[in-house]
Amino acid sequence: MESIKNKLIRFMTGRYGIDPLYYAGLFLALGLMMINMMVNSTILMVISNGLILLMVLRGFSRNISRRRSENEQFLKLWNPVKKSGRIFLRRIKEIRVHRYRKCPHCRKTLKLPIKRGKHMVKCPACKESFAVRVIV
Ligand SMILES: [Zn+2]
Repeated sequence: MESIKNKLIRFMTGRYGIDPLYYAGLFLALGLMMINMMVNSTILMVISNGLILLMVLRGFSRNISRRRSENEQFLKLWNPVKKSGRIFLRRIKEIRVHRYRKCPHCRKTLKLPIKRGKHMVKCPACKESFAVRVIV
């Protein structure tokens, strides 16, 4: 007798599977469901359930190249958001030790040790000096 695992492997052969867009879609649907718990809207319920159904059907799709290009388009939008979010969280984590300031000459972001008051900083990239004020 064939095991369930082997049947599942045979079923998923040649199908697309799970990608970051799948997780994003499910996360968005979950968010819509949570909002829907407060506003109790039928439209929101249909949209969130439709989104889940769409993501599951994408996973079972045999048109792999099309699904892959959809995911690439999603990642083109998502990766800059993810990167800026990561930078934002790092700045919050290091708020007691460092301050981040942008060099007015070359626009490069510098990580500076906390030194309260106004003082001059020399940019290591363009070697220009500029004034930095750290209040808190
Ligand atoms: Zn600079």
